Amino acid sequence: MGRIFRIFGLCAAVTLWAAAGGMAQELSALARVNAARSGVIDAGQGIELRLDLSQPVPFRVRTLDAPPRLVVDFREIAWDGIAPDALLRGSRASGLRMGPVRPGWSRLVLDLTGPFAVQSAEMRRDDATGRADLVMRLAPVSAADFAAAAATPEAVLWGLPQAVALAPPRQRQDGSRPLRVVLDPGHGGIDPGAERGGVREADLMLTFARELKEVLLRAGAEVALTREEDSFVPLESRISIARAARADVFLSLHADVLAEGHATGATIYTLSDTASDKASQKLAERHDRADLLAGVDLSHQDDVIADVLMDLARRDTAPRSDALADALVAGLRQAVEHMHKRPRQSAGFSVLKSPDIPSVLIELGFLSSKRDRENLTDPEWRRKAAQGIRDALLNWAQSDAAQATLLRK
Ligand SMILES: [Zn+2]
Repeated sequence: MGRIFRIFGLCAAVTLWAAAGGMAQELSALARVNAARSGVIDAGQGIELRLDLSQPVPFRVRTLDAPPRLVVDFREIAWDGIAPDALLRGSRASGLRMGPVRPGWSRLVLDLTGPFAVQSAEMRRDDATGRADLVMRLAPVSAADFAAAAATPEAVLWGLPQAVALAPPRQRQDGSRPLRVVLDPGHGGIDPGAERGGVREADLMLTFARELKEVLLRAGAEVALTREEDSFVPLESRISIARAARADVFLSLHADVLAEGHATGATIYTLSDTASDKASQKLAERHDRADLLAGVDLSHQDDVIADVLMDLARRDTAPRSDALADALVAGLRQAVEHMHKRPRQSAGFSVLKSPDIPSVLIELGFLSSKRDRENLTDPEWRRKAAQGIRDALLNWAQSDAAQATLLRK
């Protein structure tokens, strides 16, 4: 055995970088996981996580509470072809997911059945083969100890733009400059979103966002995406990205699964404290939950967002978002005809909480519906939908600008 990087001692949150200076060159390529020699098992009173890697990688580990999770971030691990269920062999961990969280970083999240703290984390490198063996042991602790030591949101959202630190948005759009649109392809990375019939919502919405971007650019708009690839972006960061891009308008793009009823057809959602129906409420909750399960701590988020000033700003923005949603219903109906039987809905979607950027969430269709799935995977249908959204945006921008001019007089 060669170099060993290890920590010992009972602790619930540990930041550990296994990257020593001399290892820099060895860390350039993606590490691969040998699934046959990796897994999560019950060990003694605790849990053991073992990963057999093609090379050592820097990593950091911490725990999050409510629900209890172990979150390990790695520099450059390729998870493709690894089935989480095949790695989960014990009974003390109830779920496992892994995938990219942002460029150059991969994440593993282990759902714990109770309060377990990291007891040791060790990465051993075999000099003969160059392979690395990561062994992490967790031991049971009291719920109070676990909660006290769980990581803070700052640590979780490290490196991502913070909502409070960014510049205010530009002056309300009045038609005197190109409309700046931020498109938000839902989900991504460790959070694939809905999956039905071999279609992943995260992939489909990235494809559609790219297509829509082209259509909007040709119409003279400026367009930015909250993610350009299959990476994980927390909901709060999507808002921050829109602010940093000084967006005039924010469109979150989704194609979820609805377990309730047989929903079909495009649906436009705006933000509200009280959901328009049970299904909308569950949809919004599921999106927050996806963030939570991906390792984001939502517990302090409202401190940042639910500020009095922001509520005031939102009061001005809400009618503009409503008008945008109405325009989108009209535009999409014209373009693709088939809409949800109640195409205007609302719920507490976290991603729509920008105080001063009109924001709507578009369910372009539901992957749970066969008909929608066929539409969504048809490039010709998507082309029409993109044109409908373009027309809606242009119509809305025109009357919104007229209103802005009126307000100034
Ligand atoms: Zn979604």
